[in-house]
Amino acid sequence: AVRVRFAPSPTGFLHLGGLRTALYNYIFAKKHGGSFILRLEDTDQTRLVPGAAENIEDMLEWAGIPPDESPRRGGPAGPYLQSQRLELYAQAADALLRTGAAYRCFCSPQRLELLKKEALRSRQTPRYDNRCRDLSPRQVAEKLAKHPKPAVRFRLEEAAPAFQDLVYGWNRHEVASVEGDPVILKSDGFPTYHLACVVDDHHMGVSHVLRGSEWLVSTSKHLLLYRALGWQPPRFAHLPLLLNRDGSKLSKRQGDIFLERFAAAGFLPGALLDIITHCGSGFAENQMGRTLPELITQFDLTRITSHSALLDLEKLPEFNRLHLRRLLGDATQRHQLVQKLQALVGEAFGSQRPDSAVLDPAYVERVILLRQGHICRLQDLVSPAHSYLWTRPAVGRAELGALSEKADVIAKRVLGLFEGPARSLTQDTLNAELKKLSDDLEGTKHSHVMKLLRVALSGQPQGPPVAEMMVSLGPEEVRERIQKALS
Ligand code: GLU
Repeated sequence: AVRVRFAPSPTGFLHLGGLRTALYNYIFAKKHGGSFILRLEDTDQTRLVPGAAENIEDMLEWAGIPPDESPRRGGPAGPYLQSQRLELYAQAADALLRTGAAYRCFCSPQRLELLKKEALRSRQTPRYDNRCRDLSPRQVAEKLAKHPKPAVRFRLEEAAPAFQDLVYGWNRHEVASVEGDPVILKSDGFPTYHLACVVDDHHMGVSHVLRGSEWLVSTSKHLLLYRALGWQPPRFAHLPLLLNRDGSKLSKRQGDIFLERFAAAGFLPGALLDIITHCGSGFAENQMGRTLPELITQFDLTRITSHSALLDLEKLPEFNRLHLRRLLGDATQRHQLVQKLQALVGEAFGSQRPDSAVLDPAYVERVILLRQGHICRLQDLVSPAHSYLWTRPAVGRAELGALSEKADVIAKRVLGLFEGPARSLTQDTLNAELKKLSDDLEGTKHSHVMKLLRVALSGQPQGPPVAEMMVSLGPEEVRERIQKALS
């Protein structure tokens, strides 16, 4: 069975790069009726960020790609936090020690630090000199008496095996000569990434490892570990880098790549999933506006190319507009969006006590449907330009009178337009009617009529075209406002 995992370290909140890795894993799992596992790699306890573990799981749920097994949900292969699996890593390290594939290292942190400094001084990559590799059993016993908790290192002796990556093809990385034998278990009993990753992927029954291409070179090391442990390795598919459109790195320090920022700014999860797969590969066609079920059906792992994925976030609003439209076509989703907008209006204008009439769900829904082509996010509907939709102006007869001596006549004529049996007043027909009205009033400029009406409807001398406001407000609300202004 297909089992894949997303294995972030909770050293930061979920960002777009992480979402991308999670998403491809999710899609691959669902495509093959498999399971998607969330495993938190929290072995470096010094780098944990408070709240990151919760944020990662929350955001996967928000994005609509929840794991089947996770720290929160549990599952048959748990626990899903590496810090709770120390026993398994110790067992594996013991097994490797027994066969001689690993050895105890007694080098002091000071010695290792010195090695590093020397290497850096001569501009070389720091490399462990494998000093403890060939200690005799007696030397080990003696040292153990003094240091009962040594680190464990993996003996990188054999030539690294070549492997066929499902994206990058045949690969082989000479690991032994580069960094020296790696620590796999630290003296505090915590594993390092390589051991923990291999042990967990094995015990969790992971069939395919889909992860960022920055781990491609580690894979040879992992394969040596699998071999030394006598385990069958999973298949590997490394995902090309996700970069900005100009090829620069999507930096985590650029706070705005965190998922929660996009959520707070009102972007839809579907739009983010769409833009991320759109800039990547794995699909026969590169169309915009795909929903998650469509992504799953159309995904094809063999179509992932090793080209970097260039993300153009400037296009996100456009993606969002498309997804907003699609959601509005679905009654349940539309209902939720109406509630969402009601809440946003409450937040933005609550202090100005919007009339309950303008928060009526039917009114809110009509506004969304009418304006959907002109907005990218629901949030746009509570921008200052749209405030007239949600707050009734406090304009009186005196104010209108000051704008035009024909205020009464104009207002009455406009009321006439909205009376009687419901008429289909589009922006075009309204514009024609309003023009006619101005023409009939000799000596009054059209622009003055418009200004008067704009003030009566919104309290503002400037704003959207009058006909647009009228259509958005709807006949009842227009009548209500004009009548009030005249009273
Ligand atoms: N913990 C690693 C990370 O944060 C996981 C790498 C892997 O998927 O093997 O990216």
